[in-house]
Amino acid sequence: MEESVKIELGDWLFNAGITGLINILGEENINYIDNQTVEIPTKLFENFEEKYFNYFINKYQKLLSWNKIVSYEEKIQYHLESNFENFTKDSLEELNKFIGSDGTPGSLKYYMNSASYKSTYDLIEPNSNILEFVKEIKPVKFVDKNEQLNAKTEEIKNTFDKIIRVADFCKSDRGRKYLAGKNVVYTIIKNSWNGVCFLNPQTKEKDIYTDYKNYFLTPVYEYSSADKSKYKYNCFICDDNIKDLNNDISFLNMTGFDTNRKTSHVWNFTNDIGVCPVCKLVYSCVPAGMTFAYDKGIFINDNTDVKSLILTNEKIKSKVLNEKEFNNSLTYKAIIESINEEISDKARYELADVQVVRYENETYRFNILSRKMLSVIKDSKKDLDFIVRIGFKEVNSYFKIYELVIQRLFNNQNLYTLIHKLLQYKLSTPANAHYLSSHIISLLKINLRFLEGIGIMEKNKNYLIYGGSDAGKELKKSYEVQEKLKGISYRLLNALKTNNVDMFMDTLLNCYLYVQKPVPRIFLETLKNDDAFKTAGYAFIAGILGETKSEEEDSNKGGDGE
Ligand SMILES: [Zn+2]
Repeated sequence: MEESVKIELGDWLFNAGITGLINILGEENINYIDNQTVEIPTKLFENFEEKYFNYFINKYQKLLSWNKIVSYEEKIQYHLESNFENFTKDSLEELNKFIGSDGTPGSLKYYMNSASYKSTYDLIEPNSNILEFVKEIKPVKFVDKNEQLNAKTEEIKNTFDKIIRVADFCKSDRGRKYLAGKNVVYTIIKNSWNGVCFLNPQTKEKDIYTDYKNYFLTPVYEYSSADKSKYKYNCFICDDNIKDLNNDISFLNMTGFDTNRKTSHVWNFTNDIGVCPVCKLVYSCVPAGMTFAYDKGIFINDNTDVKSLILTNEKIKSKVLNEKEFNNSLTYKAIIESINEEISDKARYELADVQVVRYENETYRFNILSRKMLSVIKDSKKDLDFIVRIGFKEVNSYFKIYELVIQRLFNNQNLYTLIHKLLQYKLSTPANAHYLSSHIISLLKINLRFLEGIGIMEKNKNYLIYGGSDAGKELKKSYEVQEKLKGISYRLLNALKTNNVDMFMDTLLNCYLYVQKPVPRIFLETLKNDDAFKTAGYAFIAGILGETKSEEEDSNKGGDGE
C-alpha cells in the first residue's frame, strides 16, 4: 500500500470535503505540499470510521437528542444533593415533560422508543432490556389538588433512580458511540449526502461504523494496493486511473449529479462520471467541512490556499456553535468576523474573491464576495457593529437590519431601498421602527463605501452625509410646528425614490424660504450626480427625523428590539 495520498483543491464541494477530512484527521497530522495540495499519510486512515463519527459527536454534542438525555442527570444530581430544597411544582412539571410519552416529540420516552434509537440497543449491550426500564419510568402525577409536593418525594426519588439507570446506559462509551453516532447521521451527515451506506434504507449492516468502513474505507485500501496500470478510465476529480465508472458522486445532495435521473437531457453524460475511492472518501467528509446548525449550513470557499480554507471555516464553526441560539444574523456575523480576521493578516492586494456557500431549505445558495466587497465590509466594521441589534417589525415578522445589509452587500446591491424603507417606517409607524437616525447614518456610510468600492463614487465623500444630516438637524430647529416637517419629509422621500431632483429642490426651496434661510451649499453640488443627490438627500431626512438627545438616551435604554 502506498504510504500517503496527495489531494488537491478543486471546486467548492470537493474543497468542503478536503476541509472535512483535515478537520477529522487533525490539521497537525497533515503535510502541506503547496498552497493547493496536501499529503495525508495512509496510516491516518486506521480507525478512520471512529475518527469520522467522533468529530461530529464532539462538535455537535450540544445539538444532539442524546445529549438531552444524558445531561438531564445533572439536574437530578442537583436536586438529590440539595435535598429537594429547590424542587418546586415547576420542577415537577419539567420532569414530567422530560419523561413524556412515546408520542411527545423531544421527550425521553419518545427518543428511547424511536426506531433509530432502538436499532442501536443490541450494539450497546446485548439483551440489556433497556426498553423495560424505560417503560417503568412514569410521570409523577398528583391524585388530587390538595396533595403536597413533599408527599411525592419518595416517588420522585424512585423515578430519578430509573432515569439515571437509562441515562447511564446512554452515557456509557458504547452508548455514546452508537446513540450519538446515530444522532449525527440524521442531524448533520444527512444534510450533505444520502442514499448509500448507513443512509441507505436497505442497508443490511446495523453497525454504522462497520457500514462506513466497508463502504468508504475498504475500497480505498484495495485501490491503494492495486495495480492500476491497466485501468481504462480516469477519476473525474483527480484523474487517477480507475477500473470502471461504478463509483460516482450521486450520493451527494443537490449537486445535479443524480445518476438515477438518466432521462435528464442535461446530464445525459453523467454515467461517464466516475471517481476513485479516495475522492469518494473525501466527498463523504463534506458534512465535516461545512458548519451546520440544525438544517442550515455554511461553507466559505476561501481557496487561495488550504490553510486559509481550514482556518476560516474553523473560525466560523467555533463562532456559530458557541452561540446559544442559532439564527441568520449570527451566521452572517460569524462569516463577516471570520473573513475579517482572516484577511486582516493579508496584504490587501492578496485578497481574492471568496465564495460563500449556504445550505438552506435543502438547497445550496451561492454568493461571491469580491475583493472589493470584502474591503467594504472590512472598512465598515464599526458601522456594522453599531447596527447589529437593531430591526423593525413588518406585518408579523421582525427583521434584523444587520442581516438585510449583509445580504445586499453579498449580492452586490446598494442600500438605497433599505434606507428608504427605514426612513419611511420611522415616519409612518415609529412604534415598529426599533432604530435611530444615527443608525441610518451608519447605513449611508456603508452604502457610500460600497459605491466607492464599485467605482461609482469618488473617495472621501463623507461630507455629503454629515453635511446633509447637519442641514436636516438645523432645519428642524428652525421649525416651530414639527408636524409640518412630517409632510415635508414624505415629499422629499418621494422625490428621492423617483429620482426627481426638481421636486426635491422645489420642496427644499420652499422650506428654506419659510424659515428665511439660504439653501445649504451642499445641495447645489449634489445636483451633478445621482448618487451624491441620494446620499445627501437621505442624510438630510435622517437629520430632520433625528432624535433629540433625551430621546436617544431613552431609546438606548430599552431599545434592543426583539
Ligand atoms: Zn480521484
